[in-house]
Amino acid sequence: MNNPLLIYYDYAMLGHNPHGWDPEHPEWTDAVKAMIAIQYPDAQLESYAHPERPERLTAIVDRLLKAAVDNVRWALPLPATPTELERAHTAQHVAYIEGLEGESGWLAKDTTAVSPFSVAAARLAAGAGVSALEAIARGEAERAFCIVRPPGHHAPADQAMGFCLYNNVAVTAAHARAALGYERVLIWDWDMHHGNGTQDIFYDDPGVLVIDSHCAAPFYPGTGHLEETGAGDATGYHLNVPLPPGFGNATLIDVFEQIVHPAAQAFRPDLILVSAGFDCHYLDMTCAMDDTGYAVLAQQMAALADSLCGGRLVCVLEGGYNAQALADSTHALVGALAGSAPVAAVNVLANDPGRAAVTEAAAYHADNLAALAR
Ligand SMILES: [Zn+2]
Repeated sequence: MNNPLLIYYDYAMLGHNPHGWDPEHPEWTDAVKAMIAIQYPDAQLESYAHPERPERLTAIVDRLLKAAVDNVRWALPLPATPTELERAHTAQHVAYIEGLEGESGWLAKDTTAVSPFSVAAARLAAGAGVSALEAIARGEAERAFCIVRPPGHHAPADQAMGFCLYNNVAVTAAHARAALGYERVLIWDWDMHHGNGTQDIFYDDPGVLVIDSHCAAPFYPGTGHLEETGAGDATGYHLNVPLPPGFGNATLIDVFEQIVHPAAQAFRPDLILVSAGFDCHYLDMTCAMDDTGYAVLAQQMAALADSLCGGRLVCVLEGGYNAQALADSTHALVGALAGSAPVAAVNVLANDPGRAAVTEAAAYHADNLAALAR
């Protein structure tokens, strides 16, 4: 790869800064406090801040600037237009979100919230992947990483949910198909949570193959069962891989080898997208991955894109709530995607609790994988 890795970022996305608590909905606040107290008994609830906070992005950008990676070029995203947003969302949802500009408050009791500059941030987050695709189509790059917030993969076509206002990766995939003529788009969502919004938007669309590895229900958002495989012509085009909490690097490497790689070989995508959350990092407290795992995954996805679709690969940030984990993991990912940093040997747990579930999911999806090749 000679072209640089494009990194899309705009500090205006720091303007999305919702309150941790909503004083107008005390019952919602109480419910979230109870949920946090169960998971983190020592949490300081009175000083609790919203976990999806500006520091997530500044930690990433600070690290990438202080420990610069060769062969990267920074770029500013354009905000997504209403036309681009409405390829993934209903016109009513876009009008609802746009109408929140300048407002503060919670939109849902799962702490999805806005501050006065959130809508501008959401437009940029949704537009970053579109800008990346346009640059790739112009021949400026093959690969891009979009450092964005609010995240997107929990937002279905018609509502805000799980910190997400617009579904950034879905807007990107829809743009690829509608505006750039790519017929088949593969998405791997490796965030710890199921990307219910992405699944909802493409559930009956065989042009988009969605593979989603995540902590199994009842973990939030409670969807992503093996049996959710798509509808109509897209039956078999949603490959969910529900996993137990605590899994490490070897589990997602197994997901790549047993499901993502064979599915991609069969589907022959024109473009590969990654919903790249980093909340499986051990510092996020639930799972046990680290930066060496994310580096290997990035390297494998880049090699897959090189072999199948002219190298076209766009990774879009989703979750990940520990600043150090985000900085370490994204720096490793960028090094691997830019081809300028050797990937360290991967750390593997002695008894990784997720690997059996991957084998089970691969067996469940065997017929779906075979059908993709037809
Ligand atoms: Zn997540």
